[in-house]
Amino acid sequence: MDTNQFLTLNNGKKMPIIGIGTWQASDEEIETAVDAALEAGYRHIDTAPRYGNEQAIGKVLKRWLDAGKVKREELFIVTKLPVIANSPSDVDPIIRKSLADLQLDYVDMFLIHTPFTVVTNEDGSIKRDEEGLMIPDLTTNHAATWIEMEKLVANGLAKSIGVSNFDKEQVARLLKNCKIRPANNQIEHHVYLQQRDLVEFCKAEGIAITAYSPLGSKGIANVNASVGIKRDLPDLMDIPEVKEIAAAHGKTPAQVLLRWIVDTGCIAIPKSTNPERLRQNLNVFDFKLTEEEVAKL
Ligand code: NAP
Repeated sequence: MDTNQFLTLNNGKKMPIIGIGTWQASDEEIETAVDAALEAGYRHIDTAPRYGNEQAIGKVLKRWLDAGKVKREELFIVTKLPVIANSPSDVDPIIRKSLADLQLDYVDMFLIHTPFTVVTNEDGSIKRDEEGLMIPDLTTNHAATWIEMEKLVANGLAKSIGVSNFDKEQVARLLKNCKIRPANNQIEHHVYLQQRDLVEFCKAEGIAITAYSPLGSKGIANVNASVGIKRDLPDLMDIPEVKEIAAAHGKTPAQVLLRWIVDTGCIAIPKSTNPERLRQNLNVFDFKLTEEEVAKL
């Protein structure tokens, strides 16, 4: 059984269906995790300058590439234009900074991280209102930013371009104003937040969906807590139906949650810094959910 399976994008490029997420991991944790992930067979790595660990990831990639343990064309590296800097003039310098940190000449996918910019403090940190919420800059024009994104494909800095956290209306507007169609929309997508309308719309338009936080919103819960927002989020691995289906297949609840994403035609980027769980998350290609099980979830 191959450790990787691929989804063909609208530009013919192949994207591994399971990748490793890298948010909320220190340099030390992510170095070990990416190393273990590559050993386990991962070839798709989801990064972003906002995660603050691209230099550490770059060190691991360089070691693997220099040692000839992996070829550049076997890797699928995703990074993003950050929420604090997504105006047209940010695109070129931001990708060049990520490429320098990652020690690469190009990325496989460059995404606009969010369809809005946020207001920042003088030190560049995100400004928050009295409820702890970010303040969107309502002048953001992502259609203008997209023109600069398209140039990255022309100049070879990104093989594919896409978006993240875009809703149906925002994707539709981009489709009306683009020369290169987005290849990917990376959204929060899991059994508890299925976003069926958006997923079906993107798929019909030939835009692959990458599911972030595929195991639930643990990372988001940490962010909420850090700014004093309390929101009760369920533990998806504890849902009785998930546990029942896992037992029926001899798999773990996490593997069922990931397989549900694969079976609904999407890509998933679970984050783990634990080598055993990393291996487990990639090992989802030797079983399939039945139609009834998909419907149940
Ligand atoms: P997630 O992948 O759904 O969940 C990660 C959590 O689950 C970690 O606490 C991890 O702990 C645990 N875990 C991983 N595998 C497990 C397993 N097999 N069994 C039990 N627990 C397991 O959450 P996420 O980090 O929010 O999302 C994944 C990635 O999506 C991020 O890292 C990032 O790359 C991307 N993302 C993108 C956006 C965006 O706006 N585009 C937003 C959020 C996330 P251990 O590390 O201890 O295993």
